[in-house]
Amino acid sequence: MGFIEKFKSYVKYETTSTEPKENCCSNAIMLDLAYHLFSELQKLKPYEISINKFGVVDAKLAGSNKKEPICLLAHIDTSNQVSGKNVKPIVEKYLGKTIKLKNNKVLSEKDFPYLKKSKNHTIVHSDGTTLLGSDDKSGIAIILQAIEEIKKEKKEHREIEIIFTTDEEIGVDAEHISREIVNAKYGYTLDGGDIDYASIETFSAYGVKVEVEGKSIHPGEAKDKMVNASNVFIAFHNLLPEKLRPENTWKKEPFYHLLGMKGHEEHLEASYIVRSFDEQEIKDMIELMKENAKRVNSKLGYNALNLVIKRQYKNMKAVLDKHPQIQREIEEAYKKCGRRVKYEAVRGGTTGSRLSYMGIPCPNLGTGGYNFHGVYEYLDVDQALEMIKILKTIIAVEK
Ligand SMILES: [Zn+2]
Repeated sequence: MGFIEKFKSYVKYETTSTEPKENCCSNAIMLDLAYHLFSELQKLKPYEISINKFGVVDAKLAGSNKKEPICLLAHIDTSNQVSGKNVKPIVEKYLGKTIKLKNNKVLSEKDFPYLKKSKNHTIVHSDGTTLLGSDDKSGIAIILQAIEEIKKEKKEHREIEIIFTTDEEIGVDAEHISREIVNAKYGYTLDGGDIDYASIETFSAYGVKVEVEGKSIHPGEAKDKMVNASNVFIAFHNLLPEKLRPENTWKKEPFYHLLGMKGHEEHLEASYIVRSFDEQEIKDMIELMKENAKRVNSKLGYNALNLVIKRQYKNMKAVLDKHPQIQREIEEAYKKCGRRVKYEAVRGGTTGSRLSYMGIPCPNLGTGGYNFHGVYEYLDVDQALEMIKILKTIIAVEK
């Protein structure tokens, strides 16, 4: 099976992640794909292979000890922002003309100028009713294709550990990897866009849950008695700087993102994600939330509003800076493939951010996918094939 066939077979699984669960992955279909990948990996004759209750697959392939063992990661699940059911991947050569999708949607250079880069390349997109799942099934297909090819060509390679994770999109994937089973000293996550960019920097991240206890009373008799939890929350939210919302920030600017809220007069719950590239800045941002909560509460005279603050992940750069040889390895591999790598900070988090702090530095490599988490998602297959070459260069051992 070639790269495109592999990719097309994976996107058929509706592996949408939902809510984190304690003893299994958030959606059972993820397990179906995990078991399918498990059997694909068995064909590569690993000396050790396992799958855990969350559907995390870990396979170790013996190799030459002339180079250090590495791990390669990709995630099985897809974003829940758009449906991943009945994905119909459409493969075509992109010639520069606007592509019509269903529901009067179009994929055009006007809306997505970077599409120009894919001119005369083979691309895969959905029919416009679902996401494609390039994030991150193209990563899975790239890893398996690269290893299959290297085995077929009977090239010597280093020891490789392949880890396919679940529930990455809801931020719990790294929690499901047991550190003890990972042999590799460092690795690469194949989960990114344009392959000319590698990422050694990600956001630092917190999740903040807001719980508000109001005092409900018949609105006709509410004077001086009612505390409407919704209004308390709105007051809190409005104290956060408007310019620090995702829609108003880019590049290395931080943000507070209100994910959603649910409630009524008596009780309200809301949740935020807070993101910054700088450790001190993000701590200050969390402090501001705490101060604002205090202000709102002291005005009401009781603790109506409570924050539950959770650290999600940290910028991997601090770890990667201590391992410059990894960056050198990326640069050399690109060079051998006739390309030059550029670096980009990801305005997001990755499995690699978590793994880096578990002692496995893990930068991100692109897969050629674009417009993740939406119906306009597409994969530039030519770029994916280039990444397969780069990856083979990284894992091969030269005689
Ligand atoms: Zn991803």
